[in-house]
This record gives sequence, structure tokens and C-alpha cells, in this order.
Amino acid sequence: MFWRKKLPDSQTIFAPASAVGKAGVTIFRISGAEATQAVTRLCVPRELPAPRLATLRDIKDLNSGEVIDHALILYFPAPHSFTGEDVIELHTHGGRAVTNAVIAALRALPHFRLAEAGEFTRRAFENGKMDLTEAEAIADLVHAETEAQRKQALRQMDGALGKLYEDWRHRLSHSLAYVEAAIDFSDEELPEDMIEKQSAALRILRDEILNHLNDNHRGERLREGFSIAILGPPNAGKSSLLNALARREAAIVSPTAGTTRDVIEVHLDIGGYPVILADTAGLRAANDSIESEGVRRAHLRAADADLKLIVLDGTSSSPDEFVRDLIDANTIVVLNKSDIANVANTKKDSLPISALTGSGIDDLLQKLAQEIAHRFDATSAPPLTRARHRAALEECVENLARALQAQQVDMCAEDIRLAMRALGRITGRIDVEDLLDIIFRDFCIGK
Ligand code: GDP
Repeated sequence: MFWRKKLPDSQTIFAPASAVGKAGVTIFRISGAEATQAVTRLCVPRELPAPRLATLRDIKDLNSGEVIDHALILYFPAPHSFTGEDVIELHTHGGRAVTNAVIAALRALPHFRLAEAGEFTRRAFENGKMDLTEAEAIADLVHAETEAQRKQALRQMDGALGKLYEDWRHRLSHSLAYVEAAIDFSDEELPEDMIEKQSAALRILRDEILNHLNDNHRGERLREGFSIAILGPPNAGKSSLLNALARREAAIVSPTAGTTRDVIEVHLDIGGYPVILADTAGLRAANDSIESEGVRRAHLRAADADLKLIVLDGTSSSPDEFVRDLIDANTIVVLNKSDIANVANTKKDSLPISALTGSGIDDLLQKLAQEIAHRFDATSAPPLTRARHRAALEECVENLARALQAQQVDMCAEDIRLAMRALGRITGRIDVEDLLDIIFRDFCIGK
């Protein structure tokens, strides 16, 4: 049974569930105890249609009696609906005038009000229709921009992550039952090796959670974007490369050295993965304080980046000292200006490209896609996707470590209980009230 919070009010909520604007169809979602009034008071004919069967009706304005639109209506009686409450869907024609008239008509009904962001999903959670990881996955799916993000969100929405955490919590409750038995019964009444067995079980579980935590932030990065920093000496063609990769003029390209002073970011989809590509100031001994600030930021970016893309000028023979130190296993080096550079200059392990003509850019994109796919390399277990989950899991591991060191069984039992609470907070099975506003804030209206 999920933890439940008393509904903040008993009002029926409604909102356009599709994006507002000129469109063929706008879908309104209405949820609550009095949702059926949207049909019985606004529609002609006014009787409720059979559940889940699309039916054509006229929608009328309550005051003027004028027809607003012809609409398809759907009725999902509680509890077999998205929110677990009575839900009505109105599929009207799209466009602002229809949308505004329907909103005004619904608002005129008693106990009806516009929904807040995420309120439908929140009600679904409160009515036990889904756990918190599934609710969060709906927000992720709505925000997903690339294939890999979509797949991860869908998997989580289908309950893969929640199931993993609930399974761990279940195993803890099993151990807890044995440890509590050791408090209540004397040594003679209990199997000899019981405590050792439970300690071993707790150790295995702790290691599984640590393994899950030690994932290079793969799932979180897939939500937020894989960061690549373009680095190199001034005039090597970093801004030109960013533009070539982004296929648009996102950065200022200039023959004057030191033009890029701040970090410029573009968001790209490379091989289905979300990438944040950053152009940075050219690395050299700066001429003024603004440029030196740019160089400082470039170094910070280099340190934070998931991957460094170092651009060298193929026409210049010496890869200079400011750049050489940055090259490590986490780096791809490209030799730019291949259109005018001497081919003999091309070094092993560096990719010849021309940001100007586009030569070699496809090879580079392919190499980047391989590199990123390798980092995200999906294992069979669902990945950890949010800092909120990470914090709770770390707390769980700390409590488990204490439980394993506890000298007295009642202390051990208490630490296991705390570890269970930490896990329960992720899926929302216990005391999550204060978390809800933060989680559902991310949603859009109508979800
Ligand atoms: P950044 O300072 O490293 O960002 O370099 P820019 O992208 O501003 O480029 C510096 C100069 O090199 C500009 O005049 C570009 O037009 C030129 N450039 C950039 N890439 C190439 C290239 O592949 N071939 C040639 N011939 N010139 C390039």
C-alpha cells in the first residue's frame, strides 16, 4: 500500500493536456469526483457515454446555450483511470478561441478549477496508481529530446527502477524480521547461524547498492546531457568546429585570436544521446584580465567535461604547452585545417578535419557517438537517474554499514529500519510529503 496524503481539496481539476496553439485537436483532461458534470451539464446529448468509448457530442456554453464546438468525449470511471478518479476527456478542435471558450465553460461549473503543473500525475500517485520513480519518469518522458533519453524514461515509467528499489527494501524487511526475532527470543530458541546469515545477506545487499551507485552517473547524465569541452590554442578553429558540429552559426568565428572569452554551449543529439558541446577560450598566456578569466573558465570546463575535444591547428607544427598537459585518456585530438595543412603533419591518434570544408566531420561525429555510447554502455540493470535517488541510496548504505557494525541486536534492527526508510523515500512508500512539491514542480500543466 502506498503512503497516502489527504487530497489538498476535493475539487475537480481540468486542463488542456495537449500543447496549446493552432492545432487540429486539443485534448482537455478533467479529473475529480464531479468530472462527469462536464458531460451531464455541458454536452448535448447529456447522458454519460459507455466507459472508454469515443462518442461525438456538442459542447454548449452553460449561460448562452450556444454550441462551442463538436467534440469527441471519453469517460474513464474511477478507479480505472490515469488519476484513479473519474476522468473525462474532451477532444475539441484546436486553436485559441475554442480552447478559451471550453476553459470558460468548464470553469463555470461548481467545484471545477484549472489544474496546477503536474497535478494529474500527483493525484495518480496519491491514489496509489504509481510510485514516485514512475511519476518522475513521466516528467522525463515529456522532456526527453533524444532516443536514449526516451528509452530510459520509458523503462523507468514501466517500473523497472521502482521494482529494483522495492526489491531491496523487501530483502531488508526480511533481514529485519530475523534480527527482531533475536531481540524477542532467547539464543536457544533460534537457529545457531542466524545472525551470521543475516549479516552476510546485508553485506551482499550493501555491495549491490554500492555497485548501482558506482555507475559513473550514467543515468543522471543521460537525463542532463553528456558534456564535451572543445579546447585548444587560439585560432585553431574551435568555434568553427562547434559550428560545423552544430550545423549552425552558434559561436562567433573570427580570425582575431582571443575572440571567444566565455564558454559557449550548444545542445546536440549525437547518435541518440544528448550532448552539451562547449566552446571555450583559446588556451595561451592571456593578454588582459578578461581573456585570462576566459582561460580560467576553459580550464574549469576541461576539468568538468565528460570528454575533451582538443583542436590543434594542422598548419602549425608545435602543439603548444598550454594544451599538451590536458591530453589524457579522456581526450579526442583533432588536427584542423586539413584543407591547407601539410598531410605529413598528421600525427597518430589525431583525426584530420577541416571545420571550413566539412571534411572529416562525419568521421569525428561517428567517433564521438561511439565514445559516448561506450560511456553509457547499458547494463541489464536500470540506471540511477536522479540526484534525489543517489542521496537516499547513500544514506541507505551508511545505515547498512552501521547495522553491520552494531554490537547490540536492537541497534542493528534500528539501523536496518533507517536503511529501509531511505529506500522507501525513493519510491514514495513513506513520509514523502515535503518531497512532493519539488518532484511535481517539474511537470507541465495537464500532466
Ligand atoms: P578559434 O579561435 O579556435 O575558435 O578559431 P576560429 O574558429 O575562430 O577560427 C580561426 C580562423 O581559422 C578563422 O579565420 C577561420 O575561418 C579559420 N579556420 C577555422 N577552421 C578552418 C579550416 O578548417 N580550414 C581553414 N583553411 N581555415 C579555418
